[in-house]
Amino acid sequence: MLYEKLEGGKVGCLLCAHRCVIKPGRRGICAVRENIDGTLYSLVYGRIISVNIDPIEKKPLFHFLPGSRSLSIATVGCNFRCEYCQNYEISQFPRERPAVAIPGEELTPQAVVDMAVRGECESISYTYTEPTIFFEFAYDCARLAHEKGVSNVFVSNGFMTPESARLIAPYLDANNIDLKGDNEFYKKICHAKVEPVKETIKLMKELGVWVEVTTLIIPGYNDSEGILKDIADFIASVDPSIPWHVTQFYPAYKLLDKPRTPVETLRWARELGFQAGLKYVYEGNVPGEGGENTYCPSCKELLVRRIGFSIVENRMRNGVCFKCGVHQAGRWEYQ
Ligand code: SF4
Repeated sequence: MLYEKLEGGKVGCLLCAHRCVIKPGRRGICAVRENIDGTLYSLVYGRIISVNIDPIEKKPLFHFLPGSRSLSIATVGCNFRCEYCQNYEISQFPRERPAVAIPGEELTPQAVVDMAVRGECESISYTYTEPTIFFEFAYDCARLAHEKGVSNVFVSNGFMTPESARLIAPYLDANNIDLKGDNEFYKKICHAKVEPVKETIKLMKELGVWVEVTTLIIPGYNDSEGILKDIADFIASVDPSIPWHVTQFYPAYKLLDKPRTPVETLRWARELGFQAGLKYVYEGNVPGEGGENTYCPSCKELLVRRIGFSIVENRMRNGVCFKCGVHQAGRWEYQ
C-alpha cells in the first residue's frame, strides 16, 4: 500500500515522512520495505515479534477506556534510530542485521483479533516499535477489529505522511504520539525532523482520533525550559485537553552513560504544561509520586488516583467530575 512506481524501476514510498525513493533490490530507511522488481513489498506483514496483554495505561493512555486491557503487538523495524530506544533489539533489528531473515511468529489479522477477543481486550495496540512501518498488517487487523467491536490504538512517533494518517484514521480510535523535542533534537538523536510529527498530531485531532502526547525527558538533551515550553505551547495550541505525559528517561541503547531524569525535572515540566494552559499533564515512569493522578481542571478535585499502570481510585462516572459535574475530555465508556 501507499507507494508509487517511478522511472527506472524505482519506487517512492508514501508511508512515512522520509518518503524514501528506493532502487530495485534495495530497502527503505526502515529496512522492512523492499523494492523487488519495481514493486514495493512489506517484509514484516504478519511477522509478529512481540505480543502481550497490557493495561491501556502502559501505552500511556490515561483518558481512553481506563482500566481496560489492550492486546499489544509489534513487528521488527522502525523508521527512526533514536539513540535511547528502549526496544532497540527489535526496532533496529533489520537495520543492524540486514542479512538475517525477518524474525517473528506468522499470524493472520484474524488470529490477532481472535486473540484480543479471547483475552477480553477492549483494544489492540500497535506498539513497541513504530506501527507506521507495519502499516498494512495493522490496517488489516484494525478493520477486522472494528467489525468485532474492538478498538485500535497506535503508539507512534507520528512521523507519518498525511496519506497514511488519513487511510488508518477511520479505524483508529486512539493515538499516543511522541513529541520528543525541537528540530535539533530530532536531527541529532532520531535522525529525523519534527514538523511532520506536529502535522500528524494536528491531523489526527482533526480526523477525530483521541490523541495523547508523550515526551521522554533526557537530561541535557531536551530538558531546557525553551524546548519544554515550546512543546507545551504547541499542544495547547492544538487542543488544551490533549493529555501530555512527561516521562522519565532511564539509560538504554547508546545513551547508557546518561543519568535518569530527576523527579524534580518531571514535576517542573508538568508545571510548565499547566502554565501553558494544558488541562491534563502526567509524570510517567515514577510510580507513587502523585504525578499520575487526574485532577478536575475546573474544581481541582482528585478524580483518578493511579500508581504505575493501575487505577486505585476512580471518582468519575462516565467521564464526569463527581463534584462539579464537568465532563472530562476522553473516551471513557466501553463499547
Ligand atoms: S516506511 Fe518510511 S522509512 Fe520505510 S520505506 Fe517507507 S518512507 Fe522509507
